[in-house]
Amino acid sequence: MAQVEAIKAYKDNYIWALQGSDNKLVVVDPGLAEPVLDYLQAQGKTLAAILITHHHWDHTTGVAALKLAYPEITVYGPKNSPFTDVDVALSDGDTITELGYEFQVRATPGHTLDHICYIGAGLVFSGDTLFSGGCGRLFEGSAEQMWQSMQVFRDLDDNTQVYCTHEYTLANMQFAAASQPHNEAVLSYQHQVEAKRAQDIITLPSTIGLEKRINPFLRADAIPLGAIPPQFRPQDDEPVAKFAALRTWKDNF
Ligand SMILES: [Zn+2]
Repeated sequence: MAQVEAIKAYKDNYIWALQGSDNKLVVVDPGLAEPVLDYLQAQGKTLAAILITHHHWDHTTGVAALKLAYPEITVYGPKNSPFTDVDVALSDGDTITELGYEFQVRATPGHTLDHICYIGAGLVFSGDTLFSGGCGRLFEGSAEQMWQSMQVFRDLDDNTQVYCTHEYTLANMQFAAASQPHNEAVLSYQHQVEAKRAQDIITLPSTIGLEKRINPFLRADAIPLGAIPPQFRPQDDEPVAKFAALRTWKDNF
């Protein structure tokens, strides 16, 4: 199992540090350079590459300074993106190899149109697409696109570890409980998350198996229409209509 550590940035961002041999590591979505540089120095490690999931500033602002400090690194990011400071631009189905791990790239539009995820080493770097207990807001894409992106995660092995970029789990579980009042797995996980956050303990990584049981957006098709408040409830029982309704409800929650 790959070893991954969290470097904190901003209020609730995690910059993931994937550990390799030879004291090398790969960081994902460095929204700031300073905490990464401090981490590398404290650990006596060197940077091999950067993975970018999407163009938002809180995921990319550190890239330029890290590239200055480590000019030999490879910066990977999505093709057709407003963020262009990459060495290798990636599309759906591409594979990359870093630190001896192979990662498959999947396009997961919805939060942004350029969003990609990296799948490999028994984990997924899911950026702002799949959160623990939730999903990203629809800033650029449609509910149809995001629901399609959810299928990418549903197809993964249950043991796959989920490394998303924000510590949103507590608020997400409040909504998960409101939308699934009879889901025992949700209520029990909500209590675990509350206990962890009360002690400022990180709630990640999650797993695909857990998310399939608790995440209302990943399991929108399993949520009864009657669980959705009348002002958001769709006319028909189509999965994408329920997904869209849940997303709008959460935006107003
Ligand atoms: Zn974002």
